[in-house]
Amino acid sequence: MIEKRTAIELSDGRELIYFDETPNADRTEWPDRRQLPPPPPTSQLRYDPLVDEWVAVAAHRQTRTFLPPSDKCPLCPSTPEFASEIPAPDYDVVVFENQFPSFSDRVSPNEITELTDQVPVRPGIGRCEVVCFTSDHNSSFGALPEARVRTVVDALADRTTELSALPGVAQVFPFENRGIEIGVTLSHPHGQIYAYPMVPPRTQAMLRAAERHATRTGGRNLYADVLAAEQKAQVRVVAANEHWTAYVPASSRWPFEVHLAPHRQVPDIPALNDAERAAFGPLYLDMLRRFDALFDKPMPYISAWHQAVVGEGRDLGYLHLQLFSIRRAPDKLKFLAGSESAMGAFINDVIPETAAQILRDIR
Ligand SMILES: [Zn+2]
Repeated sequence: MIEKRTAIELSDGRELIYFDETPNADRTEWPDRRQLPPPPPTSQLRYDPLVDEWVAVAAHRQTRTFLPPSDKCPLCPSTPEFASEIPAPDYDVVVFENQFPSFSDRVSPNEITELTDQVPVRPGIGRCEVVCFTSDHNSSFGALPEARVRTVVDALADRTTELSALPGVAQVFPFENRGIEIGVTLSHPHGQIYAYPMVPPRTQAMLRAAERHATRTGGRNLYADVLAAEQKAQVRVVAANEHWTAYVPASSRWPFEVHLAPHRQVPDIPALNDAERAAFGPLYLDMLRRFDALFDKPMPYISAWHQAVVGEGRDLGYLHLQLFSIRRAPDKLKFLAGSESAMGAFINDVIPETAAQILRDIR
């Protein structure tokens, strides 16, 4: 749990927040000793008229740090020899604005130009943050104690509330990419938060489906009905506790995919009550350990919090965590090739009921 919250400003004006588990941690005595240049100009959003979607273009991200040696890790605490992104010599959980953001609020919101008649361009307004789960470079989320998972959940609630209130933000998306197989450029255990200026395509599709379902059923929530059906069928449920159920979606797109859903319909992480936050850690850690045990080596995964949108359609949302891996065999990865990348049509090589059975049996 968070006992103390301390916000400071890095040398280039970016915000950094320490979420400490002890009330007496003093973080203000450690200023950023670096002299960083101002944050890069932000990205653009370009409209793709062929599919009615926005694409973010952020060229400055090409220069970002790629797998630095551990004594030059920007997410480790600072040492006398090396000033990292985190000025203090230690921390519990820390969140800061990404130095190479895909979206940023340091732009004027009304700068709209047009490349062609069909392709409007607008500033990539929003915000991108980095969440460090532990100061231990060689740890992983799955190795965190339950108390730390709770602190991370509380920090994500804090960030979701603040970022949702920023002008122009449509959806707040906390996620973790784990493993170089996923394209992670820093091995230090960390996640990210994107505050999107538009409703992303997958959320748009989910909103359309949820709206159709509500109309057809006199206002029922689609995700709640899907969850109830899975709880009744049991065949794809991997594990559950009083407040959460973890199940393999019936139409899973990935070789190993699990949804963790709270039993009570809530729009986002801030809406989780104390008991629900406490019950999340044990089940999630259990899932991560099962994932790592599948092939007896650290599983590359993507862990994605689906939260309700900020504006229209918010009432249709149902918070859930989507956890999935691209590893389908000890030495085989699932790549998004022709059908998935060009057509958006997924082909899963593992039957979801089989995946659920394997995940249930493994310990
Ligand atoms: Zn590190």
